[in-house]
Amino acid sequence: MSNLDRQATLSVCGGRGFVVAEPVRELLTPRHVRLGESTEVRRLLPNLGRRMIGAWAFVDHYGPDDIADEPGMQVPPHPHMGLQTVSWLHEGEVLHRDSLGSLRTVHPRELGLMTSGRAISHSEESPKSHARFLHGAQLWVALPEAHRHVEPDFQHHAGLPTVTAPGLTATVILGELDGAASPGTTYTPIVGIDLALATGTETRLPLDPDFEYAVLSMSGEAHVDGVPVLPGSMLYLGCGRGELPLRADSDAGLMLLGGEPFAEEIVMWWNFIGRTEEEIVQARDDWEKSSRFGEVHGYHGARLPAPQLPTTPLKPRGRVR
Ligand code: MN
Repeated sequence: MSNLDRQATLSVCGGRGFVVAEPVRELLTPRHVRLGESTEVRRLLPNLGRRMIGAWAFVDHYGPDDIADEPGMQVPPHPHMGLQTVSWLHEGEVLHRDSLGSLRTVHPRELGLMTSGRAISHSEESPKSHARFLHGAQLWVALPEAHRHVEPDFQHHAGLPTVTAPGLTATVILGELDGAASPGTTYTPIVGIDLALATGTETRLPLDPDFEYAVLSMSGEAHVDGVPVLPGSMLYLGCGRGELPLRADSDAGLMLLGGEPFAEEIVMWWNFIGRTEEEIVQARDDWEKSSRFGEVHGYHGARLPAPQLPTTPLKPRGRVR
C-alpha cells in the first residue's frame, strides 16, 4: 500500500495505523536512567509524547563510557516476552548468553538479534578482557499479534550489507535500504540503518513514504532535515517522506529507525510486551517461580528479581500518548 498524494493531510501512511501523512520535525530529548551501580543510559523510547516508531518500542543510548578499569556492562539473567531485542555497538563488545544455550560475543556493527517470542531469558556482560570504551544502543521491537508467541530465537549476523555514497556508509541492521537487505528476521515492515558520515558530507537518503521515521544521534555533529541533533537525542520525522537530507559538520554516527506505524495497542511493563494486564502478571509470576523462561547458564551472579507491579492498572496503550 502506498500513499501517492503528498498534499494529503488527513490520509494515512502504511496499512497499519492512522497517522497524518505529513513530515514533521519533533526533537525527542532523552531521560537519564541509572542501570545498576555505574551505568547511566539515555532513554529515547518510550518518550513523553511518543511510545513507538514503527514497531520500535524501546531505545536506550549508552556511552561512550571509559570502562578500562571497570567490569563494564553487567546485566544479570532476566526474562523477555513479546518482543525482539537488538544490540548495536559502535565501540566495545557484549557477551550474550541465553536460555537457548547461545553464547556469542557481539562486536561493533554486528547484529545481535534476539526474538523472545513467548518466553526467553538472557544475560549481557562485558567480557573480562574488553576494549577501553563501550558505546552502543539497546533497542526493542514489538512483535505483532500474529507472531508474538513464536518460538524464541537468537541470531548473530556479522558482515551486514552496506550501501555507500561519497562520505556515507549505511549499514542495514534490519529491513532494507536501496535494495540491500539485512538477514535479520523481522515480523513487521520495519527498518534500522546505521549511518556513518564523514566531516562535510551532504547527502539524501531514500525513504518509504508509508513508513514513519526517527534519527538517533550517537556521535558527532549532524543536521537531519536541517535540524541539529546532538548525540543522545532523536529527531522524529513522521511519515510521507520520499527522502531525507543529512549533513555532517564533523564525523557523525546516526541510527535511522522506521517502520509502518504499529496499529496495535500494547502493554509494556519491565521486560515484557503483552496485550493485557493479566498476561503481564502471569509472566512476572512465571519468572519469579523460575518456570517458562528457561535458565541462563554460565553467568556468575544471581538472576534479576522482578520489580513490584504498580498499584495502578496496566492498560493497553497506543503508539502516541
Ligand atoms: Mn534484555
